[in-house]
Amino acid sequence: MIDLNNKVVIITGGTRGIGLETAKVFCANGAKVIIFGSKEETVNKALTELTKDGYKVEGYYPDLVNLEEIENTLKKIYNNYGQIDILINNAGISANKKIEETTTLEFDNIMNINVKAIFNMVKAVVPYMKKQNKGVILNTSSMVSIYGQPSGVGYPASKFAVNGMTKSLARELAPFNIRVNAVAPGIIKTDMVASLSKEMIDPLIKTIPLGRIGEPEDIANAFLFLASDMASYITGVILQVDGAAHN
Ligand code: NAD
Repeated sequence: MIDLNNKVVIITGGTRGIGLETAKVFCANGAKVIIFGSKEETVNKALTELTKDGYKVEGYYPDLVNLEEIENTLKKIYNNYGQIDILINNAGISANKKIEETTTLEFDNIMNINVKAIFNMVKAVVPYMKKQNKGVILNTSSMVSIYGQPSGVGYPASKFAVNGMTKSLARELAPFNIRVNAVAPGIIKTDMVASLSKEMIDPLIKTIPLGRIGEPEDIANAFLFLASDMASYITGVILQVDGAAHN
């Protein structure tokens, strides 16, 4: 077990999929977890599931594109806990339409949730982490940030940006003992993938050298390692967790 006792962690997109599993894994390792979601009802549903497992968790649903809302929420959290140790920027949306069918509004929306939200969250959390002279920021990238994808250009564009922010912020914030890393998941069995038919899944699995789709726990464990002191000399890294699907 990695000891995250009394560490305060904020997980955006913590209501389902990778984020919800990460919340469970961090709780199980002693962290005080705060999840962010897009709506009150989905946050409450996730809190019901987490507290049923006996964990003490809190949830908020600030608009991630609105810096002022985020700053107010983080102020409340810092006043309650006296520290913010780990931020996991996990909320994200994907795209798969061809460029002619993609509107500029859809492109902006992807950039807002996948890129601007991370900028806002980091901007709001850094003053607290600098005051503590310690912090960990983890971003969720994707294997499409290495190779792109054949349609839905906004999604890989946003994840290339996530990698750029990760590497740049790692350099900017290292003097303040704040580490910044990203995890780049391959195909992970969240709701979206779980609903695909066997005919669609089997050919996908054939492209993965490890011979299976990833589980949300595979990504949660990577976050756990990177958040822990075991990774104290690791910063600016994009950790691919994809069964070598990128090769
Ligand atoms: P998911 O759709 O199951 O969950 C997405 C989370 O993001 C939800 O908690 C949702 O509330 C939050 N979110 C979405 N739009 C939001 C908004 N406008 N405001 C606030 N929160 C919002 O997805 P997932 O598969 O768990 O993906 C989580 C992250 O992992 C994303 O960044 C995604 O790009 C990345 N990823 C997933 C896969 C995969 O195969 N599942 C692969 C590579 C990368």
